[in-house]
Amino acid sequence: MVERYQNYVNGAWTDGSSGQVSTSNNPADLTDCVGEFQASTSADANTAISAAYDKKEGWRRTSGLSRGGYLLKAASYLEGNLEEYAQAITREAGKSIVESRGEVGRAIALLQYYGVEGSNPVGEVVPSVNPEILLYTNRMPLGVISLITPWNFPLAIPIWKMAPALVYGNTIVLKPASATPYVATLIARMWEEVDLPNGVFNLVTGSGGAVGNELITNSKVAAISFTGSTRIGMNIAGESAKRHKRYQLEMGGKNPVIVLPDADLEQAAEITVSGAMKYSGQKCTATSRAIVVGNVIEDFTNLVVEKTEALKIGPGSDPESVVVPVIDQASQENISEMIKRGLADGGVVLTGGEIPSGDIYKKGTFVEPTVINNLDSDSYVACEEIFGPVLSILPATDADEALDIANSVEYGLSAGIFTKNLNSVLDFADKIEAGVVKINGETAGLEPQVPFGGMKASSSGDREQGKAAIEFFTQTKTIYVDRSAT
Ligand code: NAP
Repeated sequence: MVERYQNYVNGAWTDGSSGQVSTSNNPADLTDCVGEFQASTSADANTAISAAYDKKEGWRRTSGLSRGGYLLKAASYLEGNLEEYAQAITREAGKSIVESRGEVGRAIALLQYYGVEGSNPVGEVVPSVNPEILLYTNRMPLGVISLITPWNFPLAIPIWKMAPALVYGNTIVLKPASATPYVATLIARMWEEVDLPNGVFNLVTGSGGAVGNELITNSKVAAISFTGSTRIGMNIAGESAKRHKRYQLEMGGKNPVIVLPDADLEQAAEITVSGAMKYSGQKCTATSRAIVVGNVIEDFTNLVVEKTEALKIGPGSDPESVVVPVIDQASQENISEMIKRGLADGGVVLTGGEIPSGDIYKKGTFVEPTVINNLDSDSYVACEEIFGPVLSILPATDADEALDIANSVEYGLSAGIFTKNLNSVLDFADKIEAGVVKINGETAGLEPQVPFGGMKASSSGDREQGKAAIEFFTQTKTIYVDRSAT
């Protein structure tokens, strides 16, 4: 019997108005249906927005300390239920259980960080030219914020948006990806368990077209925080700008690493393969291009192929699995098409390139970890996001050419360099067009207490996480008090 789940609106579990449901399935075993979820309509989104709107004044007037207290309670709740939440991520998103536990740990850290943030200053007193004037600034919440999130970090991404949104006094409506509504339902349960006031957090499941559109266009929504593909993000930017709504977009990447001849090749290959293949490359910060300078390319390539072939492909429930199923059949087909396109453009597949054979793989949506070389750096596969376990190895004659190749794509999310040379490090850190820069480290992997975001087509709007989050989730009011007249 497949369980049916509801929306969470104004503190109540409710059915959507369409009477329709959609299912979510385990990518490691498509016959395993995780649940049925409301196929909500724009009317349901409207109801949730109205609930958030009605509660915004009360929440704004709740002290930062109290708001932070709810986040700290939520962190404790997650700590007590870590394994259940991690298993849910693995079942619904296909992630390895090891990485799913890490994702819950990250959500806990985010809730703790922003819970404490509730007691930090939100403005400053500034000397006025007139000693009779008390001049200060205050950070005001925006009101109702729509959160539209992807499936690949179904817990951590909604939390890294909602923790600062809530602590700075906004109310929210979450629309999760259609592939991972169950984890979103668990987020709603978390807020219910910690007695967050009704209507402050609302969840509406359903398709991007039906629910997402209302969340962007409704006049009661002040701002939209989105993470997902660049195509959808750019549409949100246009619609938001037309309506004078604030927007924050975190989008795709085509993240490079540069390997200089002096690098520790063993370490560089290990980290590159980890960045490219873990979670089957389905991280926005996954490594997808290795640009190798000089004649170390042959040794580096051999090491990368050897390490890729040693990776275990399997369901995320097996803690040994590194390469797990991709999210769904459409994604599996898209990745296979991209590999074929790479071959048609002259690429050579050094390892992988196929759907793995064997009974355990037939049940799910697996793709072999794939390493391609011989591609032109401006070819489609070397420039476009694949969101799968595919790494292109590209040659460069020197560090300057490597930087040019790294910067030649439209994206600019994360980038790394492997070298021992301090000047090369500083030059790279200065010239690379990326919001996250890793020196001798993996392009994926972030800490929650520092800003995160990209350059160029990877991001628009203010940075997420760390202290930077206050910029998006508040607006500044400047207050002049002339005490001589009071
Ligand atoms: P997606 O297809 O763009 O979907 C993201 C969200 O947008 C989903 O909730 C989706 O709903 C919704 N959506 C779809 N159409 C919409 C519309 N017309 N109006 C409003 N919302 C709409 O992306 P995805 O496949 O879930 O995630 C993968 C992408 O996310 C990759 O490009 C990856 O790089 C990017 N990503 C970026 C970051 C970052 O921080 N930069 C982090 C993670 C992922 P449905 O699911 O119902 O379609």
